[in-house]
Amino acid sequence: MKKKLTALSVYLLTALLVFSTVAYAAAENNGRDQGKLFQYSTINAVMQGQYDGEMTLKELNTHGDMGLGTLNGLDGELIQLDNKFYQVNSKGQVKELKGNVKTPFAVTTKFDSEKTVTLSNVKDFQDFSEKLKTKFDNKNYFYAIKIHGKFDSIKNRSVPKQTRPYPPLTEVTPHQTVFEEKNVEGTIIGFYTPNYASTIQVPGFHMHFLSDDKTKGGHILDVKFDSAKVEIQQLSEFDLVLPDTADFANADLTKTTVEDIEEAERGK
Ligand code: ZN
Repeated sequence: MKKKLTALSVYLLTALLVFSTVAYAAAENNGRDQGKLFQYSTINAVMQGQYDGEMTLKELNTHGDMGLGTLNGLDGELIQLDNKFYQVNSKGQVKELKGNVKTPFAVTTKFDSEKTVTLSNVKDFQDFSEKLKTKFDNKNYFYAIKIHGKFDSIKNRSVPKQTRPYPPLTEVTPHQTVFEEKNVEGTIIGFYTPNYASTIQVPGFHMHFLSDDKTKGGHILDVKFDSAKVEIQQLSEFDLVLPDTADFANADLTKTTVEDIEEAERGK
C-alpha cells in the first residue's frame, strides 16, 4: 500500500511540474513572440541627405509585414501593409511596388496586436499623441500601432524625388506636397519612439496613411477623428541595420537636432 501511494505521488508531482512549467511559459509571453522592431538606417542619416540604401523591399519584408519609410532618391513615402509595399509620390499618386525596389530608410515589424484601445474626440496630431501615450504600459518601450477607421480629416505629405548631390531633409521639406483628405477610410500605421532614441527614429509618433481604395496616403502631418480603435503592440527588441555604403561611412551624423527632425517630420 505504501509503495502504491509513493508511485501515485511521483506521478502527481510530475504532472503538476509539467503543468506549472507550461502555465508559466504561457503567462510570460501570452503565447506570442516578443514584439521586435526592425529598422534600416537612422532618421539622423536621412536628415543629412542619405537618400540611397541597399535594402530591397523583398528583404525588408522578411523582417516584418507592416511598416513605413521612404525610397531611394527620397522618392516619396513608403507604406507596408499586409506584406505589400506602396509608394505615395509627390503628386499624391499611389503605386504598389515590386520587391526589387530599394529603400534608404525603413521601419517594420511582424505586427501582432496585443491590446486595442479606443481614442475619442481626437482634435489634432498633438491631441492624438497625448491621448495614445496614456494607454501605454511602459513609456520607455517602442510601440507599433495600427488604426483602421474613418477619419474626419487627415493631412498627408509626400516629398519630391531628389538628385545628387543630395540636400539635407530640412531643405527638401519646404518643397513637400500636402494633401488633405476629408471623411476618408483607410489604415494608419505607425511607430512610437521614446525620446532617448531620437537620433534613430522620429521621436514620438511617426505615422503613414493608406486609404482603403489605395488612392491616397502619405506621411501624416495632422489627423482628426471622432472615434477609432487603435491596435497596439509593445516592442521590446530592436534590430538596427546600418547601410554598408561609402555615403553612410563618410556622413557627419553629429549635427542633427530634435528641432530639425520636428521641422522636417511634423511640418513645424
Ligand atoms: Zn514618414
